[in-house]
Formats: sequence, C-alpha cells, structure tokens
Amino acid sequence: MQIGTIAPTSPAPQDSRPDFRHVSHWVFDLDNTLYPASSDLFAQIDARMTQFVANLLKVSPLQARDVQKTYYREHGTTLNGLMRLHGVDPDVYLSFVHDIDRSALKADTHLASAIARLPGKRYIFTNGCTNHADKVLSRLELAHLFDDIWDIRTIAYRPKPDPASYRLVLERAGAAPQAAAMFEDAARNLVPAHALGMTTVWLKNGSEWSKQGPANPIATREHIHFEAEDLALFLHSIRI
Ligand SMILES: [Mg+2]
Repeated sequence: MQIGTIAPTSPAPQDSRPDFRHVSHWVFDLDNTLYPASSDLFAQIDARMTQFVANLLKVSPLQARDVQKTYYREHGTTLNGLMRLHGVDPDVYLSFVHDIDRSALKADTHLASAIARLPGKRYIFTNGCTNHADKVLSRLELAHLFDDIWDIRTIAYRPKPDPASYRLVLERAGAAPQAAAMFEDAARNLVPAHALGMTTVWLKNGSEWSKQGPANPIATREHIHFEAEDLALFLHSIRI
C-alpha cells in the first residue's frame, strides 16, 4: 500500500496579463499621454505656435499655420524650422508657446498609484520643454514619481521620432533598450523605439495627434506591442 500519495494537481491557470517583467526603465511621453487629449492643452500650445510664427513673420494666422505645418513636416518641429531659417532663440519660443492655461488638469491619483507600482527608473521623454513638463506634472501630482525629464534641450533639438534622440536618452539613463518600455500617443514616435528593441505601448486617446503624423516614419501594427485607451488602467493590469 502506498503511503502519502500526492493527489495530482491541476495546472496553474495561465497568466494572460501583458508581461513587463523584463522592463526596468519606463519612458513616458508627456502631452496627451499622461493626461487625456480632451484636456485641450496641446491645442493651446498649437495655437501659441501659430501666433508666434504670425508675430515673427508678420503674416496672417492662416499663413502662419501653413508655415508652421511646413516646418513641422520638413524640420521635425516648428521650432527647428524657426531656428534654422530665422535664427529664433529656442528659449524665447519655448516660453511663449508654453504660456497656456493648465487649469483643466487635476490630480490623478489612479495614475499616480499605477506609476508608483512600476519597479525601476521612470522618465518623461518630451519634445516640449522641462518648464512645461514640471507644471503639468505638478498639476497632475505626479512629479515625485519620475527620476528625470528629458526635453527638447536634452535631445539637442532633435525631436522624436529622430532615432538619435532615443539613443541619446537611453545612453543617459544607462538603459539597454530591451529593458525599456515606451508609452506614447503619437504612434510614429514608437517606430524608432521598436527598432531599438524597446517595448512599445500606444495610447489610443482619439486625439488628432495620435494618428499618423504628417512625416515619416509611418507606424504600422508591427511597431506596436500593446495598445491602451486608459494609461492608468493599463499600468494597473500589467505583470511586473
Ligand atoms: Mg504626446
């Protein structure tokens, strides 16, 4: 007679949560990623850019809009076009375009607890400026959760999706791309991240800017590892 026979156990249920156990560096875009596009901050920044161009070139808002979009398409940002073609001081431009009303932003405790649970280092990676990022993070009450803010100055005015900027910030963080995840509402900005080996998450927030950008690279399904409509819900749901 057998003693102490162990009854067969059923196999453990499969864990179907998105697996982020390989990630130790968490990289977040700022605008329309950490807050919803419906807050309309980016629309205000966009309008300030148009106004800056109109003032500088002494043209109508409609003409300024054309110039702005042309520079965005041909130089990566409106700012790069203004710096290269008109010698604009980037600090003057950045403080002008970020002079906006952020009162629509409120403390986001659900997102704060979602980010707080992520192990390792956490960063902001924005084509905007640190001053604006500080103000946004402060209103959302998320500032204490991040280790560093990489802004347009950090990346030497080579904005996402310029692959050089991704290499630069990863080097600064001492991070292997394979151990980094990037969260972005602009799908095209995930293309270089994917090429480097980062895990990519596209925030589908329905904003105009979350669709394909006007310039290459064009993002396709293969560049996106995960899609999320609600960042906090997604971060609470992942396996870490
Ligand atoms: Mg964005």
